[in-house]
Amino acid sequence: MSALNITDTLQRPLRDLRISVTDRCNFRCTYCMPKEIFGDDYAFMPKSELLSFEEITRLAALFIGFGVKKVRLTGGEPLLRRDLPELIRMLSALDGLEDIGLTTNGLLLKQHGKSLFDAGLRRLNISLDALSKETFGKMNGRGVSPDVILQNIDYAQSLGFTVKVNMVVQKGVNDHEVVPMAAYFKERDITLRFIEFMDVGTDNGWSFKQVVTKGELLDRLRETEELIPAEAAYFGEVAGRYRYKDAKAEVGFIPSVSESFCSSCTRARLSSDGKFYTCLFATNGFDIRELLRSGASDEELAQAIRGVWEKRTDRYSDERTEQTAKSRKKIGMSYIGG
Ligand code: SAM
Ligand code: SF4
Ligand code: SF4
Repeated sequence: MSALNITDTLQRPLRDLRISVTDRCNFRCTYCMPKEIFGDDYAFMPKSELLSFEEITRLAALFIGFGVKKVRLTGGEPLLRRDLPELIRMLSALDGLEDIGLTTNGLLLKQHGKSLFDAGLRRLNISLDALSKETFGKMNGRGVSPDVILQNIDYAQSLGFTVKVNMVVQKGVNDHEVVPMAAYFKERDITLRFIEFMDVGTDNGWSFKQVVTKGELLDRLRETEELIPAEAAYFGEVAGRYRYKDAKAEVGFIPSVSESFCSSCTRARLSSDGKFYTCLFATNGFDIRELLRSGASDEELAQAIRGVWEKRTDRYSDERTEQTAKSRKKIGMSYIGG
């Protein structure tokens, strides 16, 4: 079955679908789910609100019908969702889907890595913000040691996964870790991607002053390394990639703040309770779960997806100012899915 390629008001096609499978997390990263807000009495979603695997798969098939080629599972922490390998199996069976990836903090990979691999998952993005125990323990809000995540990265590679590591860089918090992190992963031939600290949600006290830009990061790395820009692998690739002159590994930059990439943004997002968002910084989503649970046919659901995408005008990062970043009521990253 060939897809019907739809475009939004800025002629951007629909190519990627990020699916959040849970709003819960076993970390409390200061920039995402600060523990002062996500405390012991925080009301996470009851199970009945979460999209079931059947519902997710049905929606994914409809998105594929409009040009989606890649699905990424995220959260919250996706490895907290029970029976996740089953969802991988169901998604892998969909015609037209070229790639499934998963973004995780890596803590539970020892328990679930093998069954995810056996179910057909091959690509993992693992988040790790520092090699220093003190810095990482503080940033993840749970005192988890980076050694556990490093061991789990090794384990995931030994299972056969292709692993990339994501590091969110925050000025004065972990920017002193940029060079050691780059050296560590270069030596192991693992791609490390630096993510500029973003003003997602309203809980992380963001300001421009805390962003270490791609330019600054490159300057720091270039003090000791020769880096050569690599060609974008496909339209809409968000990570500016660079090769080391003397190694196989690459480094990438996700410069969402300093060099916005809205003009090539082809991503749709599905929250764990079935809201369809067309931007990470959205204030509202379309409640596709309600439509689905009211007994809508595939045609009706497809019409709804198409209607939302064809009306899409989002370009938040292109337009961001300190003022809009502070005043706009945005959805939290752990809910909408990073
Ligand atoms: N729990 C998983 C994890 O941490 O990898 C998946 C969900 S998390 C929301 C997805 C990605 O978003 C992670 O790489 C995380 O570091 C990143 N992220 C969260 N909050 C961010 C922020 N304020 N700015 C930039 N990246 C952020
Ligand atoms: Fe959890 Fe990931 Fe958010 Fe950290 S970034 S709190 S691991 S969802
Ligand atoms: Fe896409 Fe919104 Fe990010 Fe722009 S701000 S790149 S439209 S998700």
